[in-house]
Amino acid sequence: MASSVVMSTDFGQSADQFKVPYEEQDPQEVTKIVKDLDAHATKGGKSRAKYSCRKTSYEVETSPTGIEIFSWKFQDQDYKRRDLPTYARGFFTTRKSDGSHEIVIRGYDKFFNNDEVNETKWDNILSRTRGPYELSLKENGCIIFISGLEDDTLLVCSKHSTGSRGASSAPTHANVGEQWLEKQLNALGKTKADLARDLRARNATAVAELCDDSFEEHILAYTGDLAGLYLHGINLNTPKFHTYPSPLVQNFATNWGFKKTGLIMMDDIKKVKDFLEECAETGAHEGRDVEGFVIRCQETYDPNRAAFHDWFFKYKFDEPYLMYRQWRECTKALIAGRNQRYKKHRKITEEYLNYAKKRLAKNPKLSKDYMQNHGIISLRNEFLAYKQMDGADAAKMEELLDNSPDVNNEVSKDVIIAPIATIGCGKTTVALALCSLFGWGHVQNDNITGKVRPPRFVRACINELTNGPAVFADRNNAQKHERKQLIKDCKDLNRNATVVALHFVHTEEKVEEVRRICRERVIARGDNHQTIQAATDQQKFIDVMDGFITRFEPVDPFNPPDSYFDSIIDLDPTAGSRANLDTVIKELHTRYPMLLPKMPNPVEMDVAIQEALDYKPELRHNIKSHTQRPRDKLPERGPQQPRKPRPVEFFAVGVPASDINSALEKAFKEIPTHQSRLYTQLKGTRRVQPQFHVTLMHRATSQQNPQLWDKYISLQKAEAEKTGRPDAQLGECDVLLERVVYDDRIMAIVVRLADADGTWQTTNKVAHITVGTRDDSVKPKESNDLLAAWLENGVGGNIHEVVFENKLQLKGNVHAVLSRGKEQYRP
Ligand code: GDP
Ligand code: MG
Repeated sequence: MASSVVMSTDFGQSADQFKVPYEEQDPQEVTKIVKDLDAHATKGGKSRAKYSCRKTSYEVETSPTGIEIFSWKFQDQDYKRRDLPTYARGFFTTRKSDGSHEIVIRGYDKFFNNDEVNETKWDNILSRTRGPYELSLKENGCIIFISGLEDDTLLVCSKHSTGSRGASSAPTHANVGEQWLEKQLNALGKTKADLARDLRARNATAVAELCDDSFEEHILAYTGDLAGLYLHGINLNTPKFHTYPSPLVQNFATNWGFKKTGLIMMDDIKKVKDFLEECAETGAHEGRDVEGFVIRCQETYDPNRAAFHDWFFKYKFDEPYLMYRQWRECTKALIAGRNQRYKKHRKITEEYLNYAKKRLAKNPKLSKDYMQNHGIISLRNEFLAYKQMDGADAAKMEELLDNSPDVNNEVSKDVIIAPIATIGCGKTTVALALCSLFGWGHVQNDNITGKVRPPRFVRACINELTNGPAVFADRNNAQKHERKQLIKDCKDLNRNATVVALHFVHTEEKVEEVRRICRERVIARGDNHQTIQAATDQQKFIDVMDGFITRFEPVDPFNPPDSYFDSIIDLDPTAGSRANLDTVIKELHTRYPMLLPKMPNPVEMDVAIQEALDYKPELRHNIKSHTQRPRDKLPERGPQQPRKPRPVEFFAVGVPASDINSALEKAFKEIPTHQSRLYTQLKGTRRVQPQFHVTLMHRATSQQNPQLWDKYISLQKAEAEKTGRPDAQLGECDVLLERVVYDDRIMAIVVRLADADGTWQTTNKVAHITVGTRDDSVKPKESNDLLAAWLENGVGGNIHEVVFENKLQLKGNVHAVLSRGKEQYRP
């Protein structure tokens, strides 16, 4: 059927049957809306209102009378609310010379993907909408709004801004859009003022897609004649959404030199559905890869009771678009030296990456261009040409190969996880985290003393497999002969053994950074290690570490002994153990779903890493202990020893570290340097906490509210009994991030516990997350003092605050944090 449906950019003749919509602005209505928006604007972050919007003002650079306009931006999630004064995505107003308010740019009402919200479920689309249905390709560039101001200035905006960034910066989307407009108007002998007047007479905003690969390359190709401004809509500048029928939009495009957006008109929604589903099969239409369609029609929540209004929904295709996007992200990761993470299309993506690697190695400029979004499409097309495949086939290939050797559904036990690493890469940290999450065994080579350690080490590992499905064989295995011994002995002792390598990649470009980071970590570890008491014998350990790095033999997956590994997972030693834990778990989950059927949630992983970072080994032996009897040999004690129960130190709501880190990054990006100094310092000295929590109540203050403490304790006991884990999750509690408050010693985030039924409360005066402290002399619990001072006197003096623009609400895990013995962590 798809072949019989033709996309046309010429509905001009049938345009006659459509009436041009027109409606004037009602200044009173607009004033009311602007007031309402103003009351919800989050400039100072003081708004307690239900929805919030961001107001930004711009002076229109091209306006001779210096007109100022305001952009109003809602948060994406707020578009699902029912109480917004307008649902326009892209909404700008101004004050006219007579003082009244006026809408100058009006985007489309926010529209949703099929199935994304209730209204866009097929049932509803089938029963509540009416045609004609106008299907256009979901163009893939950047949206540009155009309208005319009171002084005949042509206003050109991108979604939420207009004008330049400043004299020295690269052109903005709005700048490039305006250049295209000038070009197309010149070709017709028309002026920007002509277009401004026409749009103003219509009380309308023209909506176009800027598609220009030479400026910015997206997923689909727009070069040469294909580049330009694609007009796809004309909206009335009214709070309610009124938009032109597409044939009229195409007429307007012809008259003003825009490129036209191809269009399919259909009357029957069932045919629309069939058509979309058929296109989704191929991800292409008329031989061109597309991302999806936008469908314009009219909707009412109840056809018998309420009037129809203009309404859009979108229908996005999965493939090969998603595969292309994955390739693009992986290529960028490859160039940046990061891990390439991907789950779908494994085989073809791997081949693509091998191809890309070779091409990039030959041509360094390609890498640079690629990071600037150039050459993405040509690289992909070269690969497809080389494979003699089209995108749809390549994406489908995986389905056929779903049982590719990468996914092993048989292995559920007898797994030995063996790092290939050097000292300080985080082997033990990742091991401890895995073991606490999954109850796996852990054998540390450092705990094996005496002579002929290698075979005894492997035997200890294999023995662990009787206690659990997997064991972490914690040893460097930096050299091939060690790997050979490990794999051979494992397989000799257990025929069913599956040996998985964790390859901490030491590429040539990276090795100095690896060296530096590992050194720093090990120095920070001080004497807390079995064989390397760094604080005591500095030079000795540096030599030992360097020795490992020098002898390090990278994995050679296609030749023995490394080809005997059942699977190899690449890790980045500089990425940090939290990130590496994530990679290991994701990869094991994908490759051995029976071994690791369910992913833990991010907070559980944060907690596991934090505990691992706090771990201190009990055994200590001298570095020369291979050749002489250890002086201070203690009885061997591995982590498998049952620990004596530790008391609860405090209760906390853990929140995902990645969300906190990205919120902080965003918040501090636009802060002047002198005000973001502490943040920069904390990051530079690695004193941002690896894991974040809101303290609910601490043992030390339990007497302030013994009932609450007892309630928490009894919940914790019940859960511990049920799960066997004293720090098991006790419940969920949403955490709303409000602002960052800091002086020059300590930084905290003021939060709100969004727990509807009030189960979870904090006894701290101000609920907060400690971000980090300047050095060990500043204890995290001093956040309380900082916030007390802030509460009393506000900002000023040493105390600063940065209010989060978008109030993030995070899902938190409530759990107990157990005492760590003598070195206690006080929140
Ligand atoms: P191994 O020698 O490979 O076993 O490395 P460890 O796991 O013992 O890590 C070396 C030191 O670095 C320990 O003190 C860890 O607590 C610390 N460490 C591990 N991972 C990280 C990390 O991601 N960030 C920081 N800052 N320290 C880490
Ligand atoms: Mg170790």
